[in-house]
Amino acid sequence: MGFPRFIHINQATSVPAAVVVDAKIVAEEIDKLFPSCKIDIRPPFRYEEKMIEHAKIADIKQPFEKQPNQERDNMTMMTIPLYDGFVMQKMFAEMIPIEELSLDHIHIILTTLLTCTFSEDDWRYHGRAVICGTPSIISITGIIEAPAKPREFYLAQLDGMAADNGSLKKKFAGRFIDYNDENKITAASINYALQVIFFFITSGEPFCNHKDCRLFNAHWQEDLIHTIEKRTLCNHHRNLAKNL
Ligand SMILES: [Zn+2]
Repeated sequence: MGFPRFIHINQATSVPAAVVVDAKIVAEEIDKLFPSCKIDIRPPFRYEEKMIEHAKIADIKQPFEKQPNQERDNMTMMTIPLYDGFVMQKMFAEMIPIEELSLDHIHIILTTLLTCTFSEDDWRYHGRAVICGTPSIISITGIIEAPAKPREFYLAQLDGMAADNGSLKKKFAGRFIDYNDENKITAASINYALQVIFFFITSGEPFCNHKDCRLFNAHWQEDLIHTIEKRTLCNHHRNLAKNL
């Protein structure tokens, strides 16, 4: 597969203000690893509110085609609305100019919307930080919400400490990425942007088993933070990037 020559990054909207990412830093880091690529930062991807409502999930235990048709906003279980990542991707793809649809171009859309995908393994939706493809979507809310917090966090929550979520969060500070932590959210966005790029240059293999590698598929916040602190690719992936 040829190597993409252009990487377009659509900035996220600045609403809500607690979910912020510095797209410039993301672009700079990618540029260091892939200097032959032309990277540009674009304004937030524009879509109609009505359109995106169509991707909203009302029942996380039903696949998209079985979602209740009405009352999509009648969500009792979720505090943060969830959107089907692949449905969103399909909608967004239709809005990309045709001359930018070739494999020469990688589109990365940063969004504050919480993306999710349906798993047939346990028959439910799961939050996702990244959806690879054209375009690729990095959900910065997903960075905070999708990888699990430490097990003890949830146990303490069950123990009734949930009444005071603030002190619970304080107790586990540093072991998960929280809202307002722009540095860590940005660093994690770099990881996911790299996963997107490797998805394309390896024909669909964005992840790595090496725990230190930025392409590690972190299911836990602590694992994600570990790769952020390491700020590195494993030898194999570093060589892949270098040899392009
Ligand atoms: Zn690796």
